[in-house]
Amino acid sequence: MGEKFYITTAIDYVNAPPHLGHALEKVQADVIARYQRLLKKEVYFLTGTDEHGIKIVQAAEAMNKETKEFVDESVEKFKKLIEDLNISNDGFIRTSDKEKHWPNAQEFWKKIAEKGDIYKDKYKGYYCVGCEAYVTEKDLVDGKCPYHQSKNPELIEEENYFFKLSEYVGAVREKIGNDELEILSKSRKNEVLEMLKDVKDISCSRPSKKVKGWGVPVPGDDSQTMYVWVEALTNYLYPKKYWPADLHMIGKDILRFHAVIWPAMLLSAGLELPKKIFVHGFVLSDGKRMSKTDGNVIDPFELIKEYGTDALRYYLLREITPFEDGEVTKEKFKEAYNANLANGLGNLVSRVMKMAQDNLEKPVVGDTTGYKFGGYLAEKMNEFRIDLAMDYVWNKISELDNEIQEKKPWESKDKKVIENLVLNLYRIGRMLEPFMLETSKKILEIIKNNKMPEPLFPRKD
Ligand SMILES: [Zn+2]
Repeated sequence: MGEKFYITTAIDYVNAPPHLGHALEKVQADVIARYQRLLKKEVYFLTGTDEHGIKIVQAAEAMNKETKEFVDESVEKFKKLIEDLNISNDGFIRTSDKEKHWPNAQEFWKKIAEKGDIYKDKYKGYYCVGCEAYVTEKDLVDGKCPYHQSKNPELIEEENYFFKLSEYVGAVREKIGNDELEILSKSRKNEVLEMLKDVKDISCSRPSKKVKGWGVPVPGDDSQTMYVWVEALTNYLYPKKYWPADLHMIGKDILRFHAVIWPAMLLSAGLELPKKIFVHGFVLSDGKRMSKTDGNVIDPFELIKEYGTDALRYYLLREITPFEDGEVTKEKFKEAYNANLANGLGNLVSRVMKMAQDNLEKPVVGDTTGYKFGGYLAEKMNEFRIDLAMDYVWNKISELDNEIQEKKPWESKDKKVIENLVLNLYRIGRMLEPFMLETSKKILEIIKNNKMPEPLFPRKD
């Protein structure tokens, strides 16, 4: 095995069922992990769930369930999503796991405390339960959190532990400025550098009573619980031998926690910083974030049920620009499916294999050695422009369609031409491997059997 590559997704907060945003991040991370494995790197791909905080306790109460029972059930839905999306994660961490997670979280706290970077103080300010975070008054819009309009932030006054974040701001700014810790994309990097201009020490614990004991106790002080965000971030340290992470995948809404607080705490604890942070956008519908109130929620499980795993992977990977907000509606999904999967790829496979079955005595054998689609595809994958890497594959599909139109091999029955078409189709099948594994396997199997298949992607009306 070669060089290691450690990739993480954010751990999902289990207060509500998984949505398309979760699916997007998982699929993006999965393609990168699969691609890195094809480059013969020793990949470790970690995902998991964030299960502490008062918001979880309240969600459980609202359903009349014990908190533990509630999170156990909720986690199953996230695991199901991972399975249904064909995600190749190597690890799954739950922050309620007292054996795998708690020791890391507490050890991390101790390192920072020993460094002298934690102190006790009174805190007075507004806390948004929706964000599980303090919000400063200047962030409030008409007294409300901009993300959580339905609930007013609570004014709280309590004794907490604080982390000396302000002491590390200079060092973090330097490392992000010179890309030692690279924030992708450039505009997100600039956002972080902006955030780093105005940083105060942060509260890093809450009284255990206030969170009903649902959290990781502060080492040496049971009356306090580690602040859920600080504790959750330490999940990334779980596979110790792989640290530092080569790539953290996160959404833009949690950029501050990952690019300001996390690196500062790592520096305090004397640990290495992650190498890159990939910041994706939101999945919007009709230009808005999906919400029950707006009635524009699209359930990833429903899309998988109707169109299949690879169709959803296709959409999330190609139709959404990795670093920007993307748009999905049921209409757009169907349109992209019919145009690029039913017609584009599916139709090409049928056409080529019909001619191969009718005119070739034996199957065409492609080059089975390593994954070597250098040049443009590799370049784009290294830049994490998954959408452009897929455009490259779909350009190859169009080129092949055009070749068929020009050479009309169904009339000429020219074996050389048909063999060459199958060979190119084989290459497309291989290229699809990190993006759409099941489809890739099917195409290679069809070629091996030299038989015209059932439609890979039946048209939807
Ligand atoms: Zn909020």
